[in-house]
Parts: sequence; structure tokens; C-alpha cells
Amino acid sequence: MVNEKMYDLGSEPSAIRELFAYGLARKAEIGADKVFDFSLGNPSIPAPDAVKQAIVELLDEPPISLHGYTPAQGTPGVRSAIADSINRRFGMKATSSNIYMTAGAAASLAISINAVADAGDEFIVVAPYFPEYRIWIEAADCMCVEVMARELDFQLDLAAIEAAVTPKTKGIIVNSPNNPVGSVYSRENLRGLADVLRVKQEEFGSVIYLICDEPYREIVYEGVNVPYVPALYDNTIVCYSYSKSLSLPGERIGYIYVSERMPEWNRAYAAICGAGRALGFVCAPSLFQGVIEKCVDVPTDVAAYAENRELLCQGLAGLGYEYVEPQGAFYLWVKALEPDEQAFAARAKEHELLLVPSTSFGCTGYVRIGYCVSKETIANSMPAFKALMEEYRG
Ligand code: PLP
Repeated sequence: MVNEKMYDLGSEPSAIRELFAYGLARKAEIGADKVFDFSLGNPSIPAPDAVKQAIVELLDEPPISLHGYTPAQGTPGVRSAIADSINRRFGMKATSSNIYMTAGAAASLAISINAVADAGDEFIVVAPYFPEYRIWIEAADCMCVEVMARELDFQLDLAAIEAAVTPKTKGIIVNSPNNPVGSVYSRENLRGLADVLRVKQEEFGSVIYLICDEPYREIVYEGVNVPYVPALYDNTIVCYSYSKSLSLPGERIGYIYVSERMPEWNRAYAAICGAGRALGFVCAPSLFQGVIEKCVDVPTDVAAYAENRELLCQGLAGLGYEYVEPQGAFYLWVKALEPDEQAFAARAKEHELLLVPSTSFGCTGYVRIGYCVSKETIANSMPAFKALMEEYRG
């Protein structure tokens, strides 16, 4: 006998992964250049040269320590390097004692939720949202409370969030730049959120954690600013990852930053260490802790994504598609051409266009196009998008 909840999770692959697997099989069948797979968020640009350089340098170090266990929360060296970088860039006063190294944002989020939650607590997520949030929240025996983003600009709907906060609300997960929409929450919008949470904390005598999921922080266009949330709200936990910013998704490296402005932050940090221990997420990959220590300020190359964004937006706008103007990340949120987005995605699939229906992200009427692909894939997909539009509009 096995745990039924886990059995269900493991035997029902995510719709995104399923589409990706279909894409691989279809490419083998009809040729890779004939299938336009926009399903995944796998970075399409190589990791910067500095990463390779760092790996080569590290390989000269004694292998026993290089590949050995580090302290559960990560090496003092990488944690200090990250804290210093946060302080330089965002004017905080972090130290290594505020940083916990993780195997990417997935581990950061699962640990953070478990660190603060008691069974029966509620976490607010802003729909459309990254589907794994619900899995992690429910695995901690908590309730996932969905609040829709604002209809037109997909910013946070403060009135709706305010209405959703209850005495059981333990946290809200905020993801900006956003997957799947590509929106970036403005400073004014985030300030408003901080005000709502402060008032509600006061009203209920509770602590509400703002969990910032930030794997796309560096991927922004046209100079858009991504406000740093710990500077706006004290009870903030940042979940960061190098999967996207340094194109290292398979290496599983990221961190949690417990803001030093949080009252009793050291208790929260200890709970992070405890949750990491309980979930088996201790000692993030050792080699890549070393790499991050050396590469902490290496800039993210967004030029290729910016070009893709331009090409895709211009192409789809020219064909009459409606979408949310993306400010960051590498996803385009496109209005389906019929109310049933699953039916629309199925018709797109007949044109070899692999688009993720918005149902996967907790809302209706849209599809997500991941433009972390080659420029050719975008250019060559335009006739298929044209044929799809003609099928609907004649
Ligand atoms: N959060 C969001 C919004 C994501 O899009 C992803 C990955 O695509 C993750 C978290 C998980 O990232 P990681 O590879 O760092 O675990």
C-alpha cells in the first residue's frame, strides 16, 4: 500500500510535462523543425562563460572537500557573498545568517511554506499561478486560496486579496516577474499589498508572511524595475533560484533569504533550517555553491529573450492575436480564440503548435507561450499561427 495522495501526484504528470513529452515524440515522428514546442520554461541561452570558468577553477580544489557535504544551510562563503550582493543591490543589511542555500526555487518554496505553516493554515496565491504552489501548500496540510490578478494588467488585485485574508492566513506567494503572465508588479502595487497585510496582521494579531518567488528577477525588458519586496514589507521571505538567471536549471541551486527586518527573524531562520531538515533538503549541491560564490554578480544575458519577445509579439499582433504585453520572464499570455482554452490548445496542436492552456495555471481563456526557444522556432511558427487564426476567423 502507498500513500494515495502521493500516488495521485506521481501518476498524473503535469499537463506541461505531458505536452513536452508529446513534443519530443512528435519531433521524432515528423522532424524537430516541424514541431513548435512552446511548452516548457527551460532557458534557451547557455550559462555564461563565467560559470564554466568557475567550474574549471573549482575542479583544481581538493576533491574531498569540493564534493563533500557542506553545512546544512550552505557554506559560509557563498552565503556571505549572496548577503553582500543583496546589500549592495537593494540596500538591505543581510548577513550569512539570513541565507539558506537550496536546490532551486522549488526547494526554497517547499521549505519556506513548511517552516511557517501549521496544518489548517491558508496561503494565498495569485492566479494565474505556477501550479506547483498548490502541491507544496497542500502537502503541508494547508489550504491554497486562489485570488485572481487584475483582469486588464494582471497586477495584484488588492481589494480581492484584502477580502481573502482571514485569521488563518499564514502567507501569500507573490511571483514577479510572473510565470505565466510576464507581468512585473509595480512599486505602488507592492506597497499597497504591504499596507493590506500590515493592517490585517494588526486586525487579527497574526503574522502574515510574504513569500517572494523570484527566479525571473533578472529577466526584464526595456529597463523595467523589479521592486525589492523585503525593502517594503518586513515579514518577507525571498525564494531565489539561479535556474533562469544563470541558465542552470539542472544544477538545482538557489537560496532562501529571511529578511533581517523581520521581528524575530532568527526564529524564522531556525524554522527554515528545521523544515530543510524535515524535508531532506540539506546541503545544496556543493560544487554549485562554489560556482555561485564566484558568480554572484554575473549579469544575466537577456538579449536573446528580448529579441524573441519582439519577434513573437510583433508576429502575433500582426495576425490579430491579443496578449498581455510582457515586462519580464519569458512567457507570453495569449487570449484563446474561443472561450474553451483547452479546445483552443488542442486545435493549435493540430498545427504543431504546443501551447499550455491556462487551466494549468488556475484560470480560463488563455494559453501560455514559452519563448525561451530558438529564434528560428518563433520565425518558423508564424505560418502555423496564421493558419490557426484563419481557421477561427476565416
Ligand atoms: N517558481 C516559478 C514561478 C517557476 O517558473 C519555476 C520554474 O519554472 C520555479 C519556481 C522552480 O524553479 P527551480 O528550477 O529553481 O526549482
